[in-house]
Amino acid sequence: MPELPDVETYKRYIDSTSLHKKITKVNDIHNKILENISKNELKKVLVHNELIETARHGKYLFLRITDDHWLVIHFGMTGYVKYFKDIDDKPSHTRLLIKFENDFYLAFHNQRLLGKIGFTNDIKNYINKKKLGVDALDISRSLFQQLLDNKRGMIKSALMDQSMIAGIGNIYADEILFQSGIHPKTKIHKLTDNDLERVYRNMQEILDVAIKAKVNTNEFPRTYIIPNREKDGMCPKGEEKLETVKVNGRTTYFCPVHQKKK
Ligand SMILES: [Zn+2]
Repeated sequence: MPELPDVETYKRYIDSTSLHKKITKVNDIHNKILENISKNELKKVLVHNELIETARHGKYLFLRITDDHWLVIHFGMTGYVKYFKDIDDKPSHTRLLIKFENDFYLAFHNQRLLGKIGFTNDIKNYINKKKLGVDALDISRSLFQQLLDNKRGMIKSALMDQSMIAGIGNIYADEILFQSGIHPKTKIHKLTDNDLERVYRNMQEILDVAIKAKVNTNEFPRTYIIPNREKDGMCPKGEEKLETVKVNGRTTYFCPVHQKKK
């Protein structure tokens, strides 16, 4: 599932390919992913206009079309964007296809149709309506502490709670807790200030590393758990096998040696 680093990578990709080009055609719109805009409205808002700016909050991507028209893209469980010239390169599960005056295309690919395309006049309003917390890259150390002091339950659930911190999902929560040496089911109240400090620092660093690597896991540090999240995966810091457990119904990978339960 695209998480903060993936969506930030798509944002930068769009910035470097698709801004300030007149849109000549919009096709392949799939009704199921439209949130609060119809097919015709979407076409009307895009055609003859340009994408002029992008923004991101958590896992949401915003594309500015005019001063007060923003397209909102959420990728759901799978999805990516692709800019290309030859129509034969169009991804097979394209749900929105934008054609520019230079004859290049921008496709929004979303195989399982769990993504959403919406529309807003105001990003802040949209974020409030969706009850999204502070973006994981913008949250301060003190706010992080304050939010967790007021939170019950397991640390992994808290990290994935989009209304508290926006952007972290199942995969990056596993990495943050692995690098912090904390078992994913640890209750928040059992964590020391020192533990929370490590979680905060690792969250910032891991997101940063993943964005710099353009989420290409081959370029992740060798000590990262993400490339090893698979059946019979080994701990990258030792010689033990990783184990799995369910948290919020999601398969969670952890190392039984480096992430002992408190
Ligand atoms: Zn280990």
